[in-house]
Amino acid sequence: MKEKIYEGKAKILYTGPEEDQLIQYFKDDATAFNAQKKGSFKDKGYLNNIISEHLMLYLKQNNIATHFIKRLNDREQLIKKLDMIPVEFIVRNIAAGSLCKRLGIKEGTKLQDDTGKPLIEFCLKDDSLNDPLIGETHIEFFEYMTRSEIKGVKLLLEIINRRLSEKFNSIDVILVDYKLEFGNDGSKFLPLLADEICPDTCRLWDKETGEILDKDRFRKDLGGETEAYQEIARRFGLI
Ligand code: 5GP
Repeated sequence: MKEKIYEGKAKILYTGPEEDQLIQYFKDDATAFNAQKKGSFKDKGYLNNIISEHLMLYLKQNNIATHFIKRLNDREQLIKKLDMIPVEFIVRNIAAGSLCKRLGIKEGTKLQDDTGKPLIEFCLKDDSLNDPLIGETHIEFFEYMTRSEIKGVKLLLEIINRRLSEKFNSIDVILVDYKLEFGNDGSKFLPLLADEICPDTCRLWDKETGEILDKDRFRKDLGGETEAYQEIARRFGLI
């Protein structure tokens, strides 16, 4: 019998069939601004599940190790149980969201350097503190990661960003920014990509029209959330 071990804002984690596995359940619940705004929309969990599966498999094909094992049904995935790093990694190709508010940078400003490297930010994963922005010095000082792990993950983020940007470009979508999480499985290699990659965790703009196709539709009360997530799934050929 599977046992609930954690319930988050958008997902639930259950024990898996093996000791080193978990089941990740995708809810329709949506929250924003650290759960000050709450709601839900139809098929969100299902669409995030299939989009995240598609992107995790794509990254796996591109030699990126992830926690994803297989999708079990419309709402659930079997994943590897990891020792999660308590840091959210924010990758920004174009200025939007909190970066614009914090630094007064104009929305839409390109953030990649000449070599195509994005701006990478780190946040402490702690809802009670509102996921505060931290620097590499904090990560090392408080031993969230070692210096070599930070170096390894930054390299991984550059590769992942190149691959994901190409993938979204192939469906005429701009990958503006996104949040990733990593964890360790006890081996000495690089941390594994965990969590999810979907319109809840990415900003996605239509290349031609600039239409918002992600959770900002919910955050900004734009409506049409389900249709936007469906559009991403449809362009990837998933529905
Ligand atoms: P911002 O810092 O601008 O609010 O978010 C940057 C990017 O990271 C956005 O694509 C946003 O969806 C994602 N992101 C940052 N923190 C979280 C979080 O706690 N939950 C989710 N779902 N996405 C996040």
